[in-house]
Amino acid sequence: MNADILDGRAVAATIESELRTRIAQLASAPRLAVVQVGDDPASTSYIRAKSRAAERVGIKLAHHHLPAGTSLKKLKTLIEQLNSSEHGLLVQLPLPDKLEPALTRIVPERDVDGFHPVNLGKLLRGEPALRPCTPAGIMELLERSNHSPAGKHAVIVGRSNIVGKPLAVMLTQANATVTVCHTATVELAHHTRQADLLIVAAGQPDTVAPEMVRPGATVVDVGVNRTAAGLVGDCAPSVAEVAGALTPVPGGVGPMTVAMLMTNTVTAAED
Ligand code: NDP
Repeated sequence: MNADILDGRAVAATIESELRTRIAQLASAPRLAVVQVGDDPASTSYIRAKSRAAERVGIKLAHHHLPAGTSLKKLKTLIEQLNSSEHGLLVQLPLPDKLEPALTRIVPERDVDGFHPVNLGKLLRGEPALRPCTPAGIMELLERSNHSPAGKHAVIVGRSNIVGKPLAVMLTQANATVTVCHTATVELAHHTRQADLLIVAAGQPDTVAPEMVRPGATVVDVGVNRTAAGLVGDCAPSVAEVAGALTPVPGGVGPMTVAMLMTNTVTAAED
């Protein structure tokens, strides 16, 4: 069997077109500030992808690039200024530990990454909120590709605050039955083989081998791993021979994450 491709680039392009229509109704272009501290090459490449998407849909993105040694006070002051001047605001992660306390200075209404405790709390309660972009992008990709999670057994590998945990909440609200696995899970393969829908967000190449996948399952590979062989996901390439449908890396979850950031920015500008 060769898996159907869940084409994140194509679905993201459709979402961008819908956003251009929404933006045309606004009095002015939505404004998004992206704050970067230091020169992490992966961060620089993610910001480039966000800038290109913003330009395509008509969002004004301002990149605030601060030196690695920036103080907590300086970052907090910048965030407070941007809370008042922008529609959306994010600080590109990873951030040095000592600067992490600045993140909660982003007011929930501007928090287009959806990481603020208030937005995560609303998500848990099933209330409208700006939602974390990667899990929201996975949900959107599944729904728009006719792979609705309702009634499915979804197994997530990974329990981070930005992917696994919020995704477990979203899938539960979409009527999937959810299992969450992590490094203390005993016999990971036993769980992954039960999945109708398997989502892998572990951050390690080859976390899931083909024999860990139920034939015909839908597999979402969230991983982005930079290796000597190039960009690879968390699933072994031969998972494509067993899965019924699979997200490619690159071109699956990545473009959907960016499309959800653009969506959150437009939503913040509309409110
Ligand atoms: P984290 O490192 O924060 O979390 C990884 C999670 O996976 C942890 O919960 C960890 O368990 C679990 N895990 C790791 N190895 C195993 C294993 N062998 N068996 C079972 N569980 C395991 O990563 P993130 O959630 O931030 O990101 C995950 C991946 O997704 C990364 O490759 C990242 O680059 C990618 N990513 C891609 C995005 C995109 O837009 N395409 C966006 C965000 C992330 P434990 O909690 O026990 O440590």
